[in-house]
Amino acid sequence: MQPKPNIVHLPVYQPGKPIEEVKRELGLTEVIKLASNENPFGSSPRAIEAINRELANISIYPDGAAVDLTNALAERFGVQSDQIIFGAGSDEVILMIARAFLQPGDETIMADQTFPQYRHNVEIENGVCVEVPLKDGTHDLYGMLEKVGEKTKIVWICNPNNPTGTIVTADELEWFLAKVPQRVMVVLDEAYCEYIDDPSFPNGLELLKKYPNVVLLRTFSKIYGLASLRIGYGIGRPEVIRSINQVREPFNTSRFGQAAALAAIGDDAFIDSCRLANREGLATLRAAFERLGLFAFPAYGNFIMVDVQRPSQDVFQALLRRGVIVRAGHRHYPTSIRITVGSAEQNAKVIAALESALQEVA
Ligand code: PMP
Repeated sequence: MQPKPNIVHLPVYQPGKPIEEVKRELGLTEVIKLASNENPFGSSPRAIEAINRELANISIYPDGAAVDLTNALAERFGVQSDQIIFGAGSDEVILMIARAFLQPGDETIMADQTFPQYRHNVEIENGVCVEVPLKDGTHDLYGMLEKVGEKTKIVWICNPNNPTGTIVTADELEWFLAKVPQRVMVVLDEAYCEYIDDPSFPNGLELLKKYPNVVLLRTFSKIYGLASLRIGYGIGRPEVIRSINQVREPFNTSRFGQAAALAAIGDDAFIDSCRLANREGLATLRAAFERLGLFAFPAYGNFIMVDVQRPSQDVFQALLRRGVIVRAGHRHYPTSIRITVGSAEQNAKVIAALESALQEVA
């Protein structure tokens, strides 16, 4: 049995190390994971209640089209219901977009250090990835525009960018969208947008009204704290969403994911408190990095990338020994680590651990 030649070289996804594994391997009793940009405050209690209610229906298939959740989000965002599609995380929406729109040889443009699932799914479809280097950790929209050609089908813009945390501004994006031919889909991955209150951050929904080729990606995994339930979504023009729907698995999101998401969007107070705590956490981490003489990129989501001026894998291991899991090994940033903003207590722990790790790795 031979797999498709274009998948043979693909890596199997390596998630952030699980806490229990680290405890076992290193004989530690307390370990914190600030590696996967999860919400340190969990989720809204309303989501938990909704899941408990759904337990009674565990043997019944979910509503494949997620009608109630679709309608609730459509009302919230002022779009039509046929403009929204759900996936098992926005990961699956990325997969469905590639599946529905890419033929072998089609080109897609992305930053050279960005969310890896774009490349992964393009390669599975035998598409071509054209990479454009980040500039100061930020998407170089001018450079990306220069690469748009006859074969370009999709441009992926991760905003804020994972792993650097930087954003493209509304003005920059408008400039770009006005110049890109409308036959090219522009995917704006806004997985962390709910954390942002900076007025220069683009309003994706407004852009979508103006530019029919825009598709927004969002998720309940981050500020909503529902990562384990695997529910994310795309918003676009009805005809685009219809094409994505045509390749969707019949029951791709669970009853629990849908019910929890529906309950979670009704709890703005929880989201506001998470946004506020995240902002404070970012400020605490940034101040500590300054004190330690370390450069960190501007951060807008719930994570921050800091240059530890040493091989990132060495610092990663030293932090692990101190019971803190972070992300290292970013191809173009070999001396930087990405740290998820935690609770105040977790932030204090990672700062202390980093200070001591830097002395060890010196
Ligand atoms: N996009 C970005 C930029 C992300 O960082 C992530 C999660 N790491 C995702 C999409 C996928 O999130 P999920 O599949 O959990 O919705």
